[in-house]
Amino acid sequence: MKKQTAFSILIAAIIFLAGMSVTGGIKITPNNTETDAKDTPVSRSGFFLNTFVTITLYDGSDPALLDDAVALCETYEDIFSKTREGSELYRLNHRAPGEQTFTVSDDMAALLSKGLEYCRLSGGAFDITIEPLSSLWVFTGDAPTVPDAESISRAVEKVGWQNLRLNGNTLTFLSDKTTIDLGAIAKGYIADRIREYLTTHGVTGAIIDLGGNLLCIGQKPDGSPFSVGLKKPFAGELKTSAILSVSDMSVVTSGVYERHFVSNGKNYHHILNPANGYPYDNGLLSVTILSDTSVDGDGLSTVCFSLGLEKGLRLINSLEGIYACFIDEDYNICYSEGMDAFLSESEEG
Ligand code: ADP
Ligand code: MG
Repeated sequence: MKKQTAFSILIAAIIFLAGMSVTGGIKITPNNTETDAKDTPVSRSGFFLNTFVTITLYDGSDPALLDDAVALCETYEDIFSKTREGSELYRLNHRAPGEQTFTVSDDMAALLSKGLEYCRLSGGAFDITIEPLSSLWVFTGDAPTVPDAESISRAVEKVGWQNLRLNGNTLTFLSDKTTIDLGAIAKGYIADRIREYLTTHGVTGAIIDLGGNLLCIGQKPDGSPFSVGLKKPFAGELKTSAILSVSDMSVVTSGVYERHFVSNGKNYHHILNPANGYPYDNGLLSVTILSDTSVDGDGLSTVCFSLGLEKGLRLINSLEGIYACFIDEDYNICYSEGMDAFLSESEEG
């Protein structure tokens, strides 16, 4: 059942509300990292993948598992980072002219295959060869600026997922100018791998938080679902617009307020339109996806943002077991079919 509710405030992103606080994606955990008391959540945090990562065990499992789980972030950063020199992706992007064909790792092949699936599904609105553009736009530093129009149009010409061919582990670049950015889906894939590691080791209750990309394993020790809040973007304080009840699911948000800057009164954010080289300006503030796997949540949140409300909603309603929440700049919140089942309460103000 579709449901639309108007909110009077800016909204978005995800914060996790199970006895911990989050500010702007940085979780402030209780000082319990050394304790292993049965009912006390135990966390490890770190800065990986250009974001704050926190993994929390709720089921009294061995806290030593957390060290290995956090270390997996480092392992995967060595594969998927576009900026880390020597990573597998870095080497692919910095190949010699004329060098076309590579045998990639199983993880790289799996993620490229997912990425290409979403390029196809979105008709190119989502494009993993966005790298020339995404590296041109810089959202950090004291005074980020809009790149000049000529540089943007030069970068646009290099983008095109059709220049990639993936056959098993064999990746072929059909153009020397093609470079890859997996930033829209890597965190989801990595969260899934961390879940795999933890559940293989018997974990039945945990939250993997990769910079606000959440993946819940099981539920809370008392058997109730985890509570995940949708944070209001741009808001200086912790407020939620809706609270979701989630067990064994991924909750991922893409929005206009995480990596962004304002210039001449206009907000420039990091989800870029491959067709014109500028951030999508389609009236959306954020898209949140609930899904079983986090790679799908991460991929589809960016895909839906790229497609806009109408097409994005149609896409989600056509997919089994995937739910979405779109928030537009008039502060309307629009849920996909079936999302109601996960709404536990909502707040205004
Ligand atoms: P976050 O990284 O904050 O979780 P997203 O998952 O929405 O946000 O991914 C945004 C990232 O995806 C950008 O920083 C960039 O690396 C990449 N990107 C930007 N535009 C596109 C696009 N049109 N298609 C695919 N990837 C994109
Ligand atoms: Mg994404």
